[in-house]
Amino acid sequence: MINGNRLTKSAIRWGMVGGGKGSQIGYVHRSAAMRDGYFDLIAGAFDLDADRGRAFGMELGLQADRCYPDHQAMFTAEAARPDGIRCVTIATPNNTHYPITKAALQAGIHVICEKPLTFTTAEALDLQAIAKARGLVVGVTYGYSGHQMIEEAARLVADGTLGKIRIVNLQFAHGFHSAAVELENPAARWRVDPAFAGPSYVLGDLATHPLYISEVICPHLKIRRLLCSRQSFVASRAPLEDNATVLMEYDSGAVGTCWTSAVNAGAMHSQKVRVVGSKGSVEWWDEHPNQLRLEIQGEPARLLDRGMPYLHPQSLADDRIGAGHPEGLFDAWANLHYRFALAIEAHEEGDPSRVADLRYPGIAAGVEGVRWVEHCVRSADAGGIWVDYA
Ligand code: NAD
Repeated sequence: MINGNRLTKSAIRWGMVGGGKGSQIGYVHRSAAMRDGYFDLIAGAFDLDADRGRAFGMELGLQADRCYPDHQAMFTAEAARPDGIRCVTIATPNNTHYPITKAALQAGIHVICEKPLTFTTAEALDLQAIAKARGLVVGVTYGYSGHQMIEEAARLVADGTLGKIRIVNLQFAHGFHSAAVELENPAARWRVDPAFAGPSYVLGDLATHPLYISEVICPHLKIRRLLCSRQSFVASRAPLEDNATVLMEYDSGAVGTCWTSAVNAGAMHSQKVRVVGSKGSVEWWDEHPNQLRLEIQGEPARLLDRGMPYLHPQSLADDRIGAGHPEGLFDAWANLHYRFALAIEAHEEGDPSRVADLRYPGIAAGVEGVRWVEHCVRSADAGGIWVDYA
């Protein structure tokens, strides 16, 4: 149970790039990182507009000389200080993730980066190599994976309750961009511009979330090949898709599908992960994240609830308030952040092996998300053909 107890020795001196005033995800990062006192925000280059970023940093309580005009100024100055930041979060549009993460790692600073980690697998592998060589952590904010019932689903697969896994159905299909909202909304505009978003829109922006959750629930499944079809129902978004369907075949003989969309008119998030085995199925839905539906063939369906004693002990480890009280996205993100902190401390103490079993989305998850999107785009742009997964 999480109840004010700290698992690391000290708060990590922490900075942010992006996540400035009015940004969509900056506040979620700050809430999650500081919720349990694992990170202490002391520096930032929060905004493309240096003056606005500086004013915002001071509004957050930072010292003026630690509100920087850009990331490079921050990394250079902070790396030279004995009390400089140990970790930086990168919450900027996608096109900047690779150069800013690389610069941070080269300055010896751990990174928490937004997804998608990079545009290409080659870039993501480059970051992985630098992080490994320098003994640094790169966390990737697949935030939904911090929900406790994901852990329970993973346990039910691992202990054989579902039998042999046959089918994985993934979905993240909201309706908020059913019309060309990007004409009015700057945060939507960059998402449909390849120069800022990269080779995809919804595949990278949305689908990589349930993809990572499926990797957590079914770590044994390895994709053998996939086929993707993608469309731009709002035509001005082409070549970036606002809807896509992916078929996957796994080495084990299991099969998967993923439907991702920003034009699922009327839908809220509709992020669902359903895993079907030879004996039963589990289904998790991010709009009701405290529940997990468990269906065993021939038995009445069960709705398992977060925080209940019938869950696996590991599924209770992140309980903050007891069953019945709803926990949400901020809690899920905070659950990832204490793991990022534990991983950072273990790496700094030269003992990364002690966090080998700690489940958090790290650089490998970041690489995998980029690799998956790259394969999807290659398949779709070749007319929707099967491509081997390598
Ligand atoms: P946004 O457009 O709302 O905000 C971007 C912020 O970054 C702004 O404050 C902008 O001024 C700042 N910025 C841009 N370039 C910068 C630079 N070079 N240096 C410093 N600051 C810079 O974008 P957003 O919706 O918050 O998305 C940011 C990132 O977070 C994207 O990669 C997106 O995919 C990701 N995201 C992830 C989740 C999630 O669930 N993990 C949710 C939303 C967004």
